[in-house]
Amino acid sequence: MATKAYGAYAADKLLEPIGITRREPGPSDVQIDIAFCGVCHSDLHTVRSEWAGTLYPCVPGHEIVGKVSAVGAGVARFEVGDTVGVGCMVDSCQHCAACGEGLEQFCENGFTGTYNAPTPDTPGHTLGGYSQRIVVDEKFVLRIGHAPEQLAAVAPLLCAGITTYSPLRHWKVGPGKRVGIVGIGGLGHMGIKLAHAMGAHVVAFTTSESKRQDALDLGADEVVVSRDAEAMAARTGSLDFILDTVAASHDLDALTALLKRDGTLCLVGVPEHAHPSPDVSGLIFGRKAIAGSLIGGIAETQEMLDFCAEKGIVSEIELIPVEGIDRAYDRMLKSDVKYRFVIDNSSLG
Ligand code: NAP
Ligand code: ZN
Repeated sequence: MATKAYGAYAADKLLEPIGITRREPGPSDVQIDIAFCGVCHSDLHTVRSEWAGTLYPCVPGHEIVGKVSAVGAGVARFEVGDTVGVGCMVDSCQHCAACGEGLEQFCENGFTGTYNAPTPDTPGHTLGGYSQRIVVDEKFVLRIGHAPEQLAAVAPLLCAGITTYSPLRHWKVGPGKRVGIVGIGGLGHMGIKLAHAMGAHVVAFTTSESKRQDALDLGADEVVVSRDAEAMAARTGSLDFILDTVAASHDLDALTALLKRDGTLCLVGVPEHAHPSPDVSGLIFGRKAIAGSLIGGIAETQEMLDFCAEKGIVSEIELIPVEGIDRAYDRMLKSDVKYRFVIDNSSLG
């Protein structure tokens, strides 16, 4: 079906209107009319080819919410009119050990990303949520239980929400744990909200003094401006777990120093240029770990959405028309986002 979208034809080109084609729904497919799509820093990394291997034309967007407009004959779990979401994955092999454990993000045969991944559909790679509609296998469609008026602010949960929820759960963040969240952008602000909702003591680390009050309002118990050496030194050895969401290369030693013995620094940011190699003695003296985490599986994404619906958690958003995307990217690069841009997809029509 002919579908209006917004994307880029090359790394050095601005985004512009693009006509794309969505497949007719197959037996297990759900067709979704997209209402809103969040703007992740990964969209910017991909569209500007900061990570190698961007396929053009590139239509980004993996924080998708909308309404089901058609279903295939074999779809049992969704009906026309349901409010649903799609995150970073639209398929996986479904038979490897990781898929068997509900960890499709670690599919041993490679999951199919919502954009920039090989697919039999035209034009040979997936095209994301900066578009009017998308067709997705029902296994990768999520239910949304939030109130209808919250829908735009729910969109970022599909990536920023699950990417922070999953490591917080994996490293058992909860009451009695002291947790650092580094970088208060799209991911980081969700990390603060979620860690707070899980009952942890939350310390937010930011390079932006202007975000101090916001961080407290989001649920942080303490805020540290990471350029303030004295404030950093005062937290040496004080944290059980740190979630680092920063989208640019930076010094990790300053963060591992904040960990208690046996603490973990978990990286989720994927900067264009590598971080300086960490000082191993900082890890050895204290049995500390540096780890990574990738989004979350489909079952855990549903669990996160249900947790957020129950607790009334949504993202803090700035709603933009699709034509505002390049300006939004430029502001994102200046850490000037409070705290997630979300595209109103009706602006495509
Ligand atoms: P974002 O909204 O741009 O937030 C990043 C934040 O990092 C900024 O707001 C800023 O916070 C801080 N920051 C930026 N530049 C910095 C610098 N030079 N030094 C220190 N801090 C800096 O980005 P996002 O959408 O949250 O994404 C963050 C990263 O996670 C991206 O690299 C993205 O690709 C990646 N990501 C990974 C996964 C995964 O599964 N692992 C999923 C989604 C996204 P302050 O102003 O508070 O310092
Ligand atoms: Zn993302």
